[in-house]
Amino acid sequence: MGSNPTLAVFKNYKIIGGNCMAKKKYKRDGIYFLGQSSIEVTGSQYLVRFGDYQILLECGLYQSSINDYLDSYRINSEKFKFNPKDIDFVFICHAHIDHTGLIPRLVKEGFSGKIIATSNTAKIMKSLLLNSSYILNEEARLLSKKYHRVYNPLYTENDVIETMSLVYEYDDYNTIINLNDTVSFQWLKNSHCIGAAQLQLILKGKLKTKKILYTSDLGSLKTDNHYVPNTEIPNAFSDVTICESTYGSDKRLSKKSRQFDLEHLRVAINTVIERKGSVILPCFSFSRTQELLTNLYILFHNDDAFNTEIIVDSKLSCEISDLYSCILNGENLNLWNKVRTWEHVKFVSDKALSQSYIADNKPKIVISSSGFCTNGRVVNYLKKHLKDTNSMIIFSGYVGDNPSYLSYRIKNYNNRSTISINKERIPNRADCITLSTFSSHADHNDLVKYGSSLNTTKLILVHGSESSKCCLAENLREQISKNNKTYKVVCANKEMVVYI
Ligand SMILES: [Zn+2]
Ligand SMILES: [Zn+2]
Repeated sequence: MGSNPTLAVFKNYKIIGGNCMAKKKYKRDGIYFLGQSSIEVTGSQYLVRFGDYQILLECGLYQSSINDYLDSYRINSEKFKFNPKDIDFVFICHAHIDHTGLIPRLVKEGFSGKIIATSNTAKIMKSLLLNSSYILNEEARLLSKKYHRVYNPLYTENDVIETMSLVYEYDDYNTIINLNDTVSFQWLKNSHCIGAAQLQLILKGKLKTKKILYTSDLGSLKTDNHYVPNTEIPNAFSDVTICESTYGSDKRLSKKSRQFDLEHLRVAINTVIERKGSVILPCFSFSRTQELLTNLYILFHNDDAFNTEIIVDSKLSCEISDLYSCILNGENLNLWNKVRTWEHVKFVSDKALSQSYIADNKPKIVISSSGFCTNGRVVNYLKKHLKDTNSMIIFSGYVGDNPSYLSYRIKNYNNRSTISINKERIPNRADCITLSTFSSHADHNDLVKYGSSLNTTKLILVHGSESSKCCLAENLREQISKNNKTYKVVCANKEMVVYI
C-alpha cells in the first residue's frame, strides 16, 4: 500500500475480439483511461483491471456540440476497447448521460455483470436513458435520411429495460460495502446532483490492496443548491485519485453570490412582467429545472402582486419533477411539495398543450429544455420570443464554448441583428442575462481546496479541457506544497494507463 503507481502510455492499442483474448489485453493491474472524458468534458469511461477483475468506472455517452450528429454517432459507435462480456462491475456515480449513456450499448453487446448505483441515481438514470434511446433513434433516422445509408440506433428502449435489470442499489454513504472477497467500495457525499456520490474503490488481492478514489462530477464543497448534501473531502488514503476539472480554469471563477443572482432574477422578472413580455429560462430537465423552480418559489410565493404563470414545458422535466416527489424526504420533501403545488406552476408534458402555450400571447415564465437550446421545446419558445423586445432569455448554466450551440449564440451575439435558429433568421431583440451561481460543478477554488487536501499518492485530472487541466494542475501543485504534502498531479490523456 502507498507505493507509487507508475504511469504508462499504451501504444499498440488494438481492438481484440473474443473472450480470453480481451482478458489478456489488459495484462497488468491498472487504470486505463478509455473515454473521451480523459481529454474533454463528456464521455466518461475508465477501466480498472485488478487480478481477474475488470471494472468500469462509468460508461458515458459522448455528446458533441456539432449539430449534424455524425461526429457523436461515430465516437459512440466505436468498438469498445474491451469485451463487454468480461466486465464484472460498472460503477455509476451519478445519472447524467455523459456518465451513463453508453451502458445500454454495453448490455446490448453482452455485458451481464452488475451495475452499482445509489437508488436515486438508478431512478433518474432510467428516465434519462429512456429519453436518450428516443433521441438516439431520432438522430439515427436523420443521419440515414441525410447520408442515404442505414444508421442503426446505438440502442433501443428494450436495451434500457435490460440495463435496469442489472442495477444493484446501495444507499449507505461512508460505509464500506463488500461485493466479494476482492472488490469493495464506499460512497462519499457529493453535491453535484440528487443521487450523486464520489466513489472509493477498494481492491484486495493476495499480495496487495489498492484504493482508488473517483470524484465523477464534483459539486461545490458548500452548495447553494437545494436537495443535495455538501461535497465532502475524503480523509481516507487512496493510492490514486481521479478528479474532474470542468472548472479548472480560474477564468471561470464566479465572484457573484447566490443572493446577488436571486436579486438579479427578481428585478429581471419584475421588469419583464411590467412590460408584458415573457421570460424564457432554457435549462436541462434534471436538477437545474427543479432548482430554478424552487428559487422562483422562494422569491415570489409571498409576493401578493405576483400573478404570472410559470410553465415547466418538457416531458422529461415533468417526469423528473414527479420523481423528486418519490425520492426526497423530510424537509426537502416539504419544500419540494410546496414548490410543486404552488398555484402559479403548470407542468406541461403533453405536446399539444405545449403548442397551445407557444401560440398564445399571454406573458409567462417558461422553464424548458434543453440547456444548450440545440433541441427540445425551448427552441419553439426562442423562435417566438427572441424577436420580442419586451421578453428576456435567462441562462443559468454553461452555454457551450462555440457558436454551434444556440445558447452560445444568444448569449454572445447581443450586437447582431438576427440569430439563426434551424436555418431561419430570427430578429435578435429580446434581452439576455446570465446567472452564474447555479452551476452543479465545484468552481476553481473548490477544486484547488479539494485536490490539495487529499491523502493520496497520485492525483489524475480528467473531465476538463486541456487549458482547464493545466491551469488547475499548476495551482494544485502550489497549494499541495503549501499544505506540506507531496503527491503528484497529472493531466490525463486518452492513451494513459496508471499501473496499480
Ligand atoms: Zn454530471
Ligand atoms: Zn460530466
